[in-house]
Amino acid sequence: MATRYAVGNWKMNTDLAGAVTLATELSVALREHPPADEVMVGVAPPFCFLAPVKEVLQGSSIELIAQDCHPEAKGAFTGAVSAPMLASLGVQRVIVGHSERRAVFGDDDATVRRKLEAALGAGMRVILCCGETLAQREAGQAEEVVGAQLKAGLEGLSADQLAQVIVAYEPVWAIGTGVTATPEQAGAMHTALREQVLPDLCNGDAPAVLYGGSVKPANIDALAKTAHVGGVLVGGASLEASSFARIVQGCAG
Ligand code: PEP
Repeated sequence: MATRYAVGNWKMNTDLAGAVTLATELSVALREHPPADEVMVGVAPPFCFLAPVKEVLQGSSIELIAQDCHPEAKGAFTGAVSAPMLASLGVQRVIVGHSERRAVFGDDDATVRRKLEAALGAGMRVILCCGETLAQREAGQAEEVVGAQLKAGLEGLSADQLAQVIVAYEPVWAIGTGVTATPEQAGAMHTALREQVLPDLCNGDAPAVLYGGSVKPANIDALAKTAHVGGVLVGGASLEASSFARIVQGCAG
C-alpha cells in the first residue's frame, strides 16, 4: 500500500516548554494508538525548537520537518537558516513554497525551486506546497495556477530527486480560515494533478499529493477517502496533540 502522510505544521506557535509538551503528548498518544503501517507522521516545529523536539522524538517514528530553508548554503544572510544547517540538526524533510512564505515573505516560484534544490542537495526530502487564491479560483484559474507552481518546482528533476519530493495542495482560501475544500473540490484538483499535470512533469513515479487547508478531526475521514488524496498537511489542528492524533488515525487508507 502506498505511504500516506500526516504532517503537522506548527508555524510560528509554541514556546520552548509548549513545543516540548506538544511533541511529548503526541508521541505518547501515537504510542498508545499507533498509526497504520502505511501512515508516515511528521511535525514541523519552529526552527528554534527543532533540536529540543528532536530529543523528545528520539526512538519514535515521527519525522522531524523544517518549515522552510534558505536557498544558499551559508554566508551573509542575517536571520536565515540554510538547508545544510537543518540537515546537521537531523531534520529529515523541509516544507518549501508554503502560501504564507509566498504571500508574506515574497517567495516566488524561482526562489521556491532554489529552496527545493537546496534541501535535496543537503540530503533531505521535500514537501512542495502549491495552491490558488480565492480570486484565482473564482476566475477559473485554479488548475492553471497550481499547474504552473508545480511545473516551476518539479520540471527537470531526475527520478531520484522526484522520489524525495511530495506535494501539498493547499488552496489559500482554506488555510487557517476554517473553510475546508469540499471533498468534491479537493477530489477535482487532486485528480487533475494526478492525471494531467504530474504525468507531464514527472519522469518516473509521480509524487504523492497531500491536501491542506483547515483539516480537522471532523473532516479527516471524508478527506482521507477523497480520490488521489495521499495524506494531509495540518496547521491549526496540529497544535493540539489529541486533535492531530485523531487526524493521524483518520489518515489510514
Ligand atoms: C497550513 O498551514 O499548511 C495549513 C493547512 O493550516 P490550517 O490547517 O490551519 O488551515
